[in-house]
Amino acid sequence: MAFLAALAGPGVAAQAAPPEAAEQGTYLRAADYRVHEVAYRLAASGRQHCPALLPLTGMFLHYLPEYEGLNRAEAVRLYGVDRGPGILSVVSGSPAARSGLLAGDVLLSINGIALPTGESLARAGAKWRTAAAGVETLVEDQLRVGPARLKVLREGRELVLELQRELGCPVRARLARSNQANAFADGRTVIMTTRLLNFVRSDDELAVVLGHEAAHNILGHPARLEEEKVPKGFLANFGKNAARVRATEEEADGLGLKLAWSSGYDLNAAIPFWRRLYRTYDPIPTPKLFNRHPSLAARERAVAETVAELRRSAVQPPR
Ligand SMILES: [Zn+2]
Repeated sequence: MAFLAALAGPGVAAQAAPPEAAEQGTYLRAADYRVHEVAYRLAASGRQHCPALLPLTGMFLHYLPEYEGLNRAEAVRLYGVDRGPGILSVVSGSPAARSGLLAGDVLLSINGIALPTGESLARAGAKWRTAAAGVETLVEDQLRVGPARLKVLREGRELVLELQRELGCPVRARLARSNQANAFADGRTVIMTTRLLNFVRSDDELAVVLGHEAAHNILGHPARLEEEKVPKGFLANFGKNAARVRATEEEADGLGLKLAWSSGYDLNAAIPFWRRLYRTYDPIPTPKLFNRHPSLAARERAVAETVAELRRSAVQPPR
């Protein structure tokens, strides 16, 4: 849905996120938790649809360098993220929750391997995200061989907790503070903006968006388009390039809905959501040739077909 980047349209009234999603887990910020919770559910329940699985934790991290200016001192004071990666959310029912981890804990080491301090991540400059991804990969790699021992800092005290292994789809997600309504897949992580989160009206709609973007990552679309030399900008809209982009969009719609369905989300939310999104942010119908994303009609058709196929299938949603 990266097409929305250029189309951050007229103001959309912000709606408060329903708080119930966060009530059973622990979190520092409810909005982040909401995205993390849905991403975790898609990953854990959608595993039958994913070709390659990875260990899920249900804990979502934050890092000193993502805070800037005065916020950085505040992040150190409130969250202690100078000492190591901080835990921003712990999704209820996840391995992290069962291990006793809490939002606000700071990770010091895993299986005796020290994790980078906030300052050392900040020294990586613009590349700090790569260094932070390295932390997440290390955690996943340690869990591949079995449970992992985590040393954490909580209210000035160190404690050791054991994190169990649970395999699921590679759905990583984070919320970015931005005034543009957008969600995109960078090959590894789904990044969703606060503006788009305010636009979605239910976790069912959120699951449609996150499922779609996560599917791009799971199916390796960013790498595939790069290999096929499809340009990212304006030229992606023409000829063969446009057809290649549209093929990835259809695949992502299909897999994204399967993930949402397996996780028990209501697929009736999908078509009204896309309609409302197109109406709000993409009000001028453009000729197909110039259109990087599927037309609303094509998208509605594909969604209706996938939903009908899922309903016919023997796979029942768990709730
Ligand atoms: Zn897409």
